[in-house]
Amino acid sequence: MTLLKVENLTVEFPSRRGTLTAIEDVCLTVAPGEILGMVGESGAGKSMTGAAIIGLIEPPGRIARGQILLNGSRIDNLGREDMRRVRGRQIGAIFQDPLTSLNPVLTVGEQLIETIQTHLKLSRSAARERAIDWLRRVGIPAPEKRVDTYPHQYSGGMRQRVVIALALCAEPRLIIADEPTTALDVSVQAQIIALLRKLCKETGASVILVTHDMGVIAETADRVAVMYAGRVIEVGAVADVLRAPRHPYTAGLMASIPRIGEKPDILPQIDGAMPRLNARPEGCAFNPRCPKRMEVCARLRPDLVADAQGEVACHLFSKELAT
Ligand code: SF4
Ligand code: MG
Repeated sequence: MTLLKVENLTVEFPSRRGTLTAIEDVCLTVAPGEILGMVGESGAGKSMTGAAIIGLIEPPGRIARGQILLNGSRIDNLGREDMRRVRGRQIGAIFQDPLTSLNPVLTVGEQLIETIQTHLKLSRSAARERAIDWLRRVGIPAPEKRVDTYPHQYSGGMRQRVVIALALCAEPRLIIADEPTTALDVSVQAQIIALLRKLCKETGASVILVTHDMGVIAETADRVAVMYAGRVIEVGAVADVLRAPRHPYTAGLMASIPRIGEKPDILPQIDGAMPRLNARPEGCAFNPRCPKRMEVCARLRPDLVADAQGEVACHLFSKELAT
């Protein structure tokens, strides 16, 4: 069963120097209740993929190709209003900075009640009870009192708990969590991740957890999709990818697994840097850095191919070369 299916999703940005392809032919699936980790360096296209799924690509950026299906229905071609209904009711979002998700002039309770009433048919008093219950579930102490306080009266970690309540209170089937703990103190990051995982398992919501932190993926996700230079280059069960990464880039990434809280933006095990969007190499975008590069790699772009172990986009695993 598939909740979300992303097929050949390609997002382009026109620029003075021509069209920039931010993500190219991204393919993903998410099963009901599954936590899919999305990992890669800054600029690999993780956030762009998440933004495309929730319909938040800023113009002039646009989906140039591909489609996004939620429960079998296309959501990539919905109008603004329809997409706004999908966002919230069917897909919730949690971003890095809790302040971007919260309205500073409304109490936490008012924000929860508004979201609950917008998406669920509940009376105001029932919605208020539900809001208090959500504050309790995300671990806010004395929720009956805190429901009438403002976001600035919370610490960063407590605010992110409120954001999680806000994302889950309309009972969406999918949560996009984009670096949900990056802005928080190291001491609270693991708690927030554990809370997110617990609540999603309880509610049955699926999660796409976007992070540059393989340590977070290892502790949280069921499967992982690795992105490089705008493409998904490997997908598999977390345990498999950690133990036996197949794509040479993933292997380098695994060799540099950070602990929660560290923010390595470079990969010491792999020489060089990820290419810029306007300077992607021909063929496999990783070929200038790849220790296993072959002649074909600079010529032909490897497709993401599924086999018994998962999916990988690398000529080392192409059938044509193996035969
Ligand atoms: Fe390396 Fe070639 Fe595989 Fe790319 S396709 S990762 S260059 S071996
Ligand atoms: Mg990002």
